[in-house]
Amino acid sequence: MKIDLHTHSWESDGDFAPEKVVDLAVECGVSVLALTDHDTLQGNLAARKEAVSRGIRFIPGIELSCNWGKLCIHITGLKVDPEDKTLNAICEKTLKLREERAVEIDRRFQKLGIAGILDLVKQMFPEVENISRAHFARALIERAIVKNEQQAFDRYLGTNAPAYVPAAWVELPEAVKLIKAAGGIPVLAHPMRYKFRTDLAREALVQDFVEAGGIGLEVTSGSQSPHYSALCEQWVRRYGLYASTGSDFHRISKERPMIGAQTPLPEGLPCVLELF
Ligand code: AMP
Ligand code: MN
Ligand code: MN
Ligand code: MN
Repeated sequence: MKIDLHTHSWESDGDFAPEKVVDLAVECGVSVLALTDHDTLQGNLAARKEAVSRGIRFIPGIELSCNWGKLCIHITGLKVDPEDKTLNAICEKTLKLREERAVEIDRRFQKLGIAGILDLVKQMFPEVENISRAHFARALIERAIVKNEQQAFDRYLGTNAPAYVPAAWVELPEAVKLIKAAGGIPVLAHPMRYKFRTDLAREALVQDFVEAGGIGLEVTSGSQSPHYSALCEQWVRRYGLYASTGSDFHRISKERPMIGAQTPLPEGLPCVLELF
């Protein structure tokens, strides 16, 4: 059984409509799918409708950006109520934060001698409200300033790079609470992707997440090398967590796995699916 509990649509920084993400999942043989757009619940109702008509199991979701110290951490909320008022209100706030941040990022680029990049983002993605750094990366590629997304993040947009603008996302414990209050399971997304010097420092994040009431951990993810699965598996066992897995699909690309094509979970681990 192929499961994918972490995917994006064009409601955030993905390329496809929510319904299309579901259709692609069906084509890829996925039978349990969650849509987890960044800081928005918007695509879930349309995706759920499509999933019902295509006969696959759908789990509404979100990927919340939150602050933990100086880092921006991602927590997916699985099986949240897409109509939860408090969570939707936070998403509205975050949307404004993203708008303000986009203007500031644009200013940074101007100072770096790259003018009109936000205009280009809006031209390339006229429908997108939820502007992300990934959209800026695409605009930089379009202008041939960088070769690919990774280069855009390394040179300009990544943490502490010249066009990096920190944002006041909700704090990690608050994100965990919001997801639970909306009926969801909080899952620490791609734990190996954050910048830490040591595994021990990284484990402190896992510990804080658990203390805040976190429940799941992405053991395999399209956003992290399968090389790290064993360490994540240890943390699942050590902290009584439940394992989750997702492709972190955004678009069809050679660099990233397709929907459901991330490394499967190791056998015998408690899986978040048991909680639904
Ligand atoms: P934002 O939510 O606006 O801060 O943008 C972060 C998004 O950019 C992530 O969700 C990824 O989809 C994308 N991204 C691509 N490459 C990187 C990278 N090297 N570091 C962080 N984000 C990246
Ligand atoms: Mn993204
Ligand atoms: Mn993420
Ligand atoms: Mn994601």
